[in-house]
Amino acid sequence: MTTYLVADDPVTLQREHMVAEQIESRGIRNQDLLRAMRAVPRHLFVPMDVRSMAYEDWPIPIGYGATISQPYVVALMTELLAPSKKHRVLEIGTGSGYQAAILGQLAAEVYTVEIVPELARSAAQTLHKLRYTNITVRQGDGYQGWPEQAPFDRIIVTAAPPELPEALLAQLAKGGRLVAPIGSTSIQELIVIEKTAGGAIRRRSEGLVSFVAMKPGGK
Ligand code: SAH
Repeated sequence: MTTYLVADDPVTLQREHMVAEQIESRGIRNQDLLRAMRAVPRHLFVPMDVRSMAYEDWPIPIGYGATISQPYVVALMTELLAPSKKHRVLEIGTGSGYQAAILGQLAAEVYTVEIVPELARSAAQTLHKLRYTNITVRQGDGYQGWPEQAPFDRIIVTAAPPELPEALLAQLAKGGRLVAPIGSTSIQELIVIEKTAGGAIRRRSEGLVSFVAMKPGGK
């Protein structure tokens, strides 16, 4: 039997293809996550001149040295993070705001920190226009986290620090989970950290990824 995709516009169809061919086919099974990836209009998070590439299988430069991550990497990190509707989530490296929008569909509250003022401003505008009301963007240094809103049930870092920032670990709730690319070269280790109910730290590696380096604070 042939199943036809019902889509009323070409970008919806592009998104269906993106999810089927890049994400489900690589083993992502979380239905809420797949639904979020089908729903969030990724093309509206990238600059006009690269919009036609929005649903392709790679990261895209968005200016100021930032990139919107490859769709599969967004899905993989979100699956590892395992956010739920009860969670308060911190993201470091807002960039385009796309990862934050995906998290907004899956969590209670999302707090996201971006060091480049222009990116913080444009991501906040995009998220506001698209009515993602549970996401708050702040311009600041991600190495400091967001102490006023801590603790967080989930923390995701989408720029690569050479080592895990202490402040982020401190702001992770007991029973919480943190996902981050860690390393000082262009290829980093994707690590998952769990803080047990007793406060012990468990760390595991989930393979290699490539993110832009996290800028030292104050620069
Ligand atoms: N999550 C983003 C992609 C992030 S690219 C998205 O979905 O589009 C990495 C981002 O981290 C860039 O925007 C970069 O400016 C930002 N960044 C780099 N160093 C940072 C720091 N110290 N604190 C906060 N953000 C930082």
